[in-house]
Amino acid sequence: KLNHSVPVELGEQSYQIHVDFGLKNHLADHLAPWNQGQQWVVLTQQAIFDIYQPVVNQLKSAGFRIETIIVPGDESAKHIQHAESVWSQMVAMGCDRSSILLALGGGVVGDLGGFVAATYMRGIPFIQVPTTLLAMVDSAIGGKTAVNLTAGKNLVGAIYQPKAVLIDPDFLATLPRRNVISSLAEAVKYGFIRDSSIFDTFETRFDDLVSLNDEALLSEIIAKSCRIKAQIVSNDQFENGERRLLNYGHTIGHAFETLQAYQGLYHGEAVLYGMKCAGFISHKQGLLSDLEYQRAKAVLDRFELPALAEVTADQVLGVVAHDKKMINGKLNFILLDRIGNGLVSTDVSEDDIRQSLSA
Ligand code: NAD
Ligand code: ZN
Repeated sequence: KLNHSVPVELGEQSYQIHVDFGLKNHLADHLAPWNQGQQWVVLTQQAIFDIYQPVVNQLKSAGFRIETIIVPGDESAKHIQHAESVWSQMVAMGCDRSSILLALGGGVVGDLGGFVAATYMRGIPFIQVPTTLLAMVDSAIGGKTAVNLTAGKNLVGAIYQPKAVLIDPDFLATLPRRNVISSLAEAVKYGFIRDSSIFDTFETRFDDLVSLNDEALLSEIIAKSCRIKAQIVSNDQFENGERRLLNYGHTIGHAFETLQAYQGLYHGEAVLYGMKCAGFISHKQGLLSDLEYQRAKAVLDRFELPALAEVTADQVLGVVAHDKKMINGKLNFILLDRIGNGLVSTDVSEDDIRQSLSA
C-alpha cells in the first residue's frame, strides 16, 4: 500500500497528514480545496528548488497565483533576519491574511516557514510539504516552529499548526543516503516509546528499510511514525506530559551532538547513540528485561555509525546538566519498561549515565 491518511486530532485545529508515493506529481489536486485565487508563497531552498521547480510550475499551470521565496540552504536560515526578509518579500508580493505559505523542504524550511506563517499578519494558513525523512516523521508534525538565537537553537517561536502535511516519500530519492538513514532513528524511537510493531519491522526487515527501495515499506513506516507523533501531540500539545517521551535518546544524544558538532555527527546518529545509553540504563534499573535489552541493542547496532571523537563522561554530564529537560531541578530522563512503552524517570543518576557511556 502506497498511500495512508493520518488524522491529527486537535479540536478546531485538526488536520490530515497524507503519505502518498508520487504525491508531488499531483500536488495541485491536493491543494485545490484551499485555492480561492489568493496569493500563495512557496518557501524553499535553492538546492531543493533546482530539483523540484517542476512541482511549483505544475501549480502555476493549474492556475495557482504562486511565488517562490528562497532562504539559505542550511540552519542559518532559521534566523529572525531571514524571517524578516520573508515577511517583507510577502508584503511586496501583495500577500494578505488569506495568503497561504507552503513550506517545501526539510526541518529548517518547515520551522522557519511555520514561524513566518504564525506571525505574518498575526497568522496565515500554512501547509507543510516535507522533503527530508526527518521532516516527514518528526519536524513537520506537532506545530513547533522556531528561529534560533546566538544563545541557542529554537529559543524563539510559536506552536502553530499547519492546515495539512503532504508527504511524498519519493522526495527522499535526491537526498544523501546517510541523511535518510540517520533519520530512521526517530522512527525506531517511536517503536521504543509507543509502538512495538515499528520496532518489529526494524528487527525483521532492517535491510529492506535501509535500502530505501521498498516503497510500500517506506510509506508504511513513515505513516506509522506520523501516527504516533500525531497521537502524542494531540494528547499533549504543550509538552506538560507524554510529549516528553519524544525525548527518548535525546538527552545523551543531544550531549553527543553538541560535543561532536565539528565531527559532523548527524542528529539521528546522535540519537542512536543516546538510545543505546537509555536502553542500557533501563535494563540496569531492572525496568527492561534481558531479552528486550538484547533485542533493542541488536537493532541499534545494525546502524552504521561514524566513530566518535573521544569525549569524556564529564563532558557529557556537563552538557546533560545544562540541558533544559529538568523537572523541579531534577533530570527528566526517558526510559523503557518494555519495547513499546516509554516512561518519564527522575531517577537517573550520574553514575547510571557514566556506566551507560562505557557500556
Ligand atoms: P534540513 O532542513 O537542513 O535539510 C538538510 C539539507 O537537505 C538542506 O541543505 C536542504 O536544502 C536539503 N534537502 C532537503 N530536502 C531535499 C531533497 N529532497 N533533495 C535534496 N536535498 C534536499 O535538515 P532536516 O534534518 O530536515 O531538519 C533539521 C531541522 O529540523 C533543525 O533545524 C531542527 O531544529 C529542526 N527540527 C524541528 C523539529 C520540530 O518539531 N519542529 C523537530 C526536529 C527537528
Ligand atoms: Zn530528534
